[in-house]
Amino acid sequence: MEQVKRKVTYRIYPSTKQANKMVEIMRLHQRIYNAALEQRIDAYRRCGKSLNYYDQAKELTQLRAEFPEYGALNAQSEQVTLRRLEKAFQAFFRRMKAGEAAPGFPRFKAFDRFKGWGYAAHGDGWKFKPNADFVHATLHLSGVGNLQARGRPRFIDQVKSSRSPGQPKTVELIRKSSGKWFASITFATLRPHRASGTAAVGIDWGTATFVTIVAEDHAQYFIENPRHFRKYDCQLKRAQRQLSRKKRGSKNRAKAKLKLVSCHERLANQRDDFLHQTSARVVRESRLVATEALNIKTMTAHGGAYKKGLNRSILDTSPGKFFALLEFKAADAGIPYIEIPTRKVKPSQSCSGCGVVQKKAMSERVHACACCGIRLDRDVNAARVILNYALTGFVTGREPSLGVEGGVTRPLKHETSTIPERSRERA
Ligand SMILES: [Zn+2]
Repeated sequence: MEQVKRKVTYRIYPSTKQANKMVEIMRLHQRIYNAALEQRIDAYRRCGKSLNYYDQAKELTQLRAEFPEYGALNAQSEQVTLRRLEKAFQAFFRRMKAGEAAPGFPRFKAFDRFKGWGYAAHGDGWKFKPNADFVHATLHLSGVGNLQARGRPRFIDQVKSSRSPGQPKTVELIRKSSGKWFASITFATLRPHRASGTAAVGIDWGTATFVTIVAEDHAQYFIENPRHFRKYDCQLKRAQRQLSRKKRGSKNRAKAKLKLVSCHERLANQRDDFLHQTSARVVRESRLVATEALNIKTMTAHGGAYKKGLNRSILDTSPGKFFALLEFKAADAGIPYIEIPTRKVKPSQSCSGCGVVQKKAMSERVHACACCGIRLDRDVNAARVILNYALTGFVTGREPSLGVEGGVTRPLKHETSTIPERSRERA
């Protein structure tokens, strides 16, 4: 049976003493991270040399011998922190290679910006002890002690053969700005089974409507942006206002800050719930899911007052995360998830009725084809194009008839329809 990795996040409840100890550990990891970053910058400036993970990991032994506070930390967890820095650099080089204008060099991290630390192997510095039925658990951290952990691997309902989340592999300890602690544990498990449905669907993501879904029989569904995001918007603004009125360094300011941070966290949780539920529902009802390759970067890159409002709602509902969840759940259900090449197919400009390409402004909400006379909601047309192309390799869902010339039909070959555009361009 195929093994996959799944992350489960537990909220953990340290005592004051334990929390202090954890903050102490975290500060040491923060210092390792920042020192390693400085060392890389230095090596490059002085002799044009790029240090990598292995160069830096070698020096950990020396650091541990010289400074007892680092020697007391779990050795592998220090390597995990160095690997994080390595990852930040790899992402930076990738962005630079892709020709991004401002690829963003890895930054020094203030404590508030530092996420936490991790352990590489179960049993080495940490131990996970689940309660009966895997509802909640005890987490043992060396140097800290036993911590109560609340949470449950939801996917075990789908691992019918064992009803177990499998083997715990790695853990990350995370401290949120609100002071709440979490442990994100990765399990190696049998691939969970997810039920699928009977519809082949095309999905278009928009800003007005969160997603528009069409099926082969032209049935259409609209999933709106949840209203509670707007409610939180007001709460956030109020919390922000109150914070700005408080004196710097005062106790009331600290309180107001905490309120603002908690508000952000609640919003993020609600948004994640929405994305999980929505993606689960789509997979449950589908036998094939087709979407377009999104590039959120280019969508948010350009300015303007209208776009600013738009940017916020893009970030609000995180389409990137939604489609990642969708792909992942489609894989559990064993159904195809097809990303059509956006630039080639142009779902928002192509007519699903006749295939002709007409540019539309962002503000035009209706697709009215001058060529075949079809009138559709803009997003419905785009979703139909996406589905048609995924199923047949043609924008209209059928081969162009002979004798039709020019812009009326636009035959497209099928050969690359299952390969996302991004990976093709890199190749
Ligand atoms: Zn048309």
